[in-house]
Amino acid sequence: PPLLSEDPLAGLNAEQRRAVEHGSSPLLVIAGAGSGKTATLAHRVAHLVRQGADPMRILLLTFSRRAAAEMTCRVEGLAATALGARGSLPGLLPWAGTFHAVGARLLREHALQIGLDPAFTLHDREDSADLMNLVRHELGLSRTEKRFPTKATCLAIYSRCVNAEAPLDVVLPTHFPWCAEWAGPLKEIFGGYVEAKQRENTLDYDDLLLYWAQMMAEPHLAAALSRRFDHVLVDEYQDTNRLQASILLGLKPDGRGVTVVGDDAQSIYAFRAATVRNILDFPTLFDPPATIVALERNYRSTQPVLAAANAVIALSPERHAKTLWTDRPGEAKPMLMGVRDEADQARYIAETLLANREAGMRLKQQAVLFRTGSHSGPLEIELTRRNIPFKKFGGLKFLEASHVKDLLALLRFVENPRDRIAGFRVLQLLPGIGPASAQRVLEGMAPSADPIGALSDIPTPPRAGGAWQDFVALVTALRRNPTGWPQDLELARHWYEPHLERMHEDASMRRADLVQLGQVAQGYPSRGRFLAELTLDPPDATSDQSGVPLLDEDYVTLSTIHSAKGQEWRSVFLLNLVDGCIPSDLGTGEAEAIEEERRLLYVAMTRAKEELQLVVPQRFFTAGQNALGDRHVYASRSRFLPPALLPLFERGWWPAASEEPRPAAEALRLDLTAKMRAMWR
Ligand code: ATP
Ligand code: MG
Repeated sequence: PPLLSEDPLAGLNAEQRRAVEHGSSPLLVIAGAGSGKTATLAHRVAHLVRQGADPMRILLLTFSRRAAAEMTCRVEGLAATALGARGSLPGLLPWAGTFHAVGARLLREHALQIGLDPAFTLHDREDSADLMNLVRHELGLSRTEKRFPTKATCLAIYSRCVNAEAPLDVVLPTHFPWCAEWAGPLKEIFGGYVEAKQRENTLDYDDLLLYWAQMMAEPHLAAALSRRFDHVLVDEYQDTNRLQASILLGLKPDGRGVTVVGDDAQSIYAFRAATVRNILDFPTLFDPPATIVALERNYRSTQPVLAAANAVIALSPERHAKTLWTDRPGEAKPMLMGVRDEADQARYIAETLLANREAGMRLKQQAVLFRTGSHSGPLEIELTRRNIPFKKFGGLKFLEASHVKDLLALLRFVENPRDRIAGFRVLQLLPGIGPASAQRVLEGMAPSADPIGALSDIPTPPRAGGAWQDFVALVTALRRNPTGWPQDLELARHWYEPHLERMHEDASMRRADLVQLGQVAQGYPSRGRFLAELTLDPPDATSDQSGVPLLDEDYVTLSTIHSAKGQEWRSVFLLNLVDGCIPSDLGTGEAEAIEEERRLLYVAMTRAKEELQLVVPQRFFTAGQNALGDRHVYASRSRFLPPALLPLFERGWWPAASEEPRPAAEALRLDLTAKMRAMWR
């Protein structure tokens, strides 16, 4: 078919074009946010296809499944135009995906050659941690001291060793110094863990990279795999780890056909053993050395947004020798919005989202980003209450977390003891009560006019013991509602906490969520209202977390900053711009960790195309994760926004004084009473 006359490269600038049309020697595109790195990569793939490259022999490695899908879509569009009217090209890029996904496919294909059964199953992080724990028990190490690292920590240590290609005695002192004394037992557990996986024919996430890298170390396999792909292209290369770099090098030892793109200022995965050295060292890895293309024009953001983001990263002591400019004009400076607390923050955002939508900006063009998944709890509740559809990426959804559901189920059970779903869930929180005894208890309660009262007449289930009496006492007390709302949520929480600790190794994180729930509860007049409003059937859009596009629905994106990588929205809100949130308290406080947090803020700010709002709550609730315990603390603005940067921002306070609800209500009351009196005069 004849080529379409339009030039698919017409829209690109000279540097982008150079990268797209570059030959097959190694190529590095290193450039700042929004400069079109990903777009250039897509154009390059389309260009290769147009030049006759076999799409089956192109390996495109992206950071997430979603990114791979978007990229494939983009390439299909571009290649279709380039190739003429061949219609869509379904499955144009069969080898586009994350390192992990591609690894899984290659391992499945080569399993027999490397001693794996091709029927292997994959463990997620939770499964892996459970297996780690099981092994610890089987090795008789479960009786070691209480301070022994939790299963999640064990897995994190193991994972860092694997991904950083570093031995345990190097990883422990540098990254987990508080676990250094456990080197011996840890080594034993890891050995047992590896054996258990092999016996059970399971792989964990890290194995997908590890086995792949091992295959590349076997000359004949390496040769076969590297012959398989003519081109290997990697997006977000700054966030790859050593294992991934060795896979890449194994695939293409001379660098021919390799293209990597990335931005050292956006490296935010060091905490998972990614190393910015991969991208910094890339130019000198090969002989002849890689061609470097730098892109300096930002196409994403307006000038004031870009200026603020540039200023934030410029304060980094590291030299990110890149300049970015934009000719996208824009009047609006990014907003630094002060609010009283997190509840006001949630209300402010909900109202602004709606106002933007009124003004013609769809919810889909707006996003709210935060440092950690749990920070969006109050906002999720506010959005649900107002029926504003949202979709959350990264981190568990607050209301869906099992411990939050447990506590809500308990309250629901008290509120309505005939709610069998709630009862079933709650009863099984007790030790020794499984589905069968829960069922028996519920059946015993059912005929009574006072089911909670009837509980005390039900014989103690055999293995529940004292926990049963405590439970009956609690629900009886809650039913009578002696202390009133929201104190009885506190009662429930105190009852639940030991169970939480018994059931979950990461109880302290979960406990923090529950404390947060208590905060939210204070905004409601009664238990009934609280439960009703919280459990209102959320619109479909909110319950979808899978990354599957929703039909034609409009929804706001809620995302951790980590998961927002590579994306963009017309309007972006950043939550909790206070010290302790960003930089996070969870970090070690070391200079390196602080710098990673600064880059994280840079990534967050550079997601915005037109509007950027940084919200600064004056009081911030810390939930037991630091020395301060559960309490409101007066937060200070993030140290990444020192006074010198303030001229780059518009500043505001919400609600504006004139909108305070209280004076308005009083005025109304005064008016009415005057009217009433006037009626009888
Ligand atoms: P990040 O560092 O955040 O991953 P990036 O460098 O990958 O950003 P892209 O996402 O590829 O940048 O591009 C940012 C925006 O700029 C996109 O909306 C893209 O379509 C647009 N863009 C890129 N190049 C051009 C161009 N030459 N002309 C017009 N728009 C462009
Ligand atoms: Mg990108």
